[in-house]
Amino acid sequence: MAAAAASAGVGAGVAAMLQVPERVVEVAVPVRRDSGEIEVFTGWRVHHNVARGPAKGGIRFHPALTASEVSALAADMSLKTAVVDIPFGGGKGGVRCDPGAMSLGELERLTRRYTVAIASLLGPDQDVPAPDVNTDERVMAWLLDTVDVLHGRSMPAVVTGKPLAVGGMRLHAGATASGVVRCVRAAFGALHRDLVGARAVLQGFGKVGGPLAFLLQSAGMRVVAVADVGGAVWNPGGLDTAGLADHVTAGGSMGSFPGGSALDPTELWEVEAELTVPAALEGAIDAAVAERLASALVVEAANGPVTPAADEILARRGTIVVPDILANAGGVTASYFEWAQSRQGYPWDEALVATRLGRTIDDAFSTVWARSQSLGATLRHAANVVAVERIAAAIEARGLFP
Ligand code: NAD
Repeated sequence: MAAAAASAGVGAGVAAMLQVPERVVEVAVPVRRDSGEIEVFTGWRVHHNVARGPAKGGIRFHPALTASEVSALAADMSLKTAVVDIPFGGGKGGVRCDPGAMSLGELERLTRRYTVAIASLLGPDQDVPAPDVNTDERVMAWLLDTVDVLHGRSMPAVVTGKPLAVGGMRLHAGATASGVVRCVRAAFGALHRDLVGARAVLQGFGKVGGPLAFLLQSAGMRVVAVADVGGAVWNPGGLDTAGLADHVTAGGSMGSFPGGSALDPTELWEVEAELTVPAALEGAIDAAVAERLASALVVEAANGPVTPAADEILARRGTIVVPDILANAGGVTASYFEWAQSRQGYPWDEALVATRLGRTIDDAFSTVWARSQSLGATLRHAANVVAVERIAAAIEARGLFP
């Protein structure tokens, strides 16, 4: 963020404000286990910067979660909401726990007690959480219900990514993948390359990677290799992504998919392709992978899949990287629409969601691409500069109180 602040010409005071979160709240979350014992977990909610609007960011349940990780993720959300120019600041939260080792009842009690502990921060005009790693629409419904009970009124705009039954939004689930594909199309267009028939390699076949594989194929691309945690599959003619989804849903492994050949997952990155999309892990493309990556375009569907060292190598090799804060911003953009819908009390139809999502991502891509050209810098640096400029403009417009 410091380099972006320097390029954006942001004053030292404002740059210093962006280096630290505005608010870090740490809470104890006592939960009665099914055994009757009480276990105390630690949770956090962080607001990085709220000059552009209420804090927006997911809630993560993970056994290795730390305060500094939550703060870093909150800062990324400030940048992400700014780069797509939606009226939110950056936030993030979570509880250090292993949800895989908890019953449904324990998970509900944990969610509700954590919500009570951070309730004074939450509100449609203050802080609007969403799902993140190991949380889903069911957890968001518990959070919403807890806030409603505490306040004695219905507050659907306090959370996004909630079930349709309580005011969720159609297309929310696939919005991140839709935004990624929009960026893929825009990048091929900007590079004057043909999308139809081009080859794509994908790591991750989950909530983002699954729909993404199908959407890339629907756009005319050949998805030639896909990896998940259990293995990888390869077909130079292009995989049948719907068939692969059925195969995986039925419990089959990637390597046993009859429509391709099993691939050693470590060889994924060397598969000849025009596009690589990491949609699984943070740090998946490290320096060693960057040296041998076959494709000349990377679109980051995952958060932080390219390490800083790998980023330098890819830049030296002339590989274009569309950064995560732009490429996977479709999800938070759909969250913004859900928040607006909840405030309006009137459901948006699917066509409106799709049109506005596409326009938002296209506008952000064009702005970042143009800035990258004018700065002679990577798309990542340009995206950070655009975002920091917008946050700084909001801080300066408000002035400092008192
Ligand atoms: P998910 O848990 O649904 O899927 C993760 C996928 O990664 C699975 O297919 C899993 O098998 C695969 N995977 C895990 N370890 C792997 C390994 N070692 N090698 C290969 N594949 C491996 O998660 P998701 O929601 O699809 O999120 C994926 C990434 O996208 C994360 O970085 C997440 O932060 C980011 N993201 C998600 C959303 C969203 O809307 N879900 C929005 C923005 C960013």
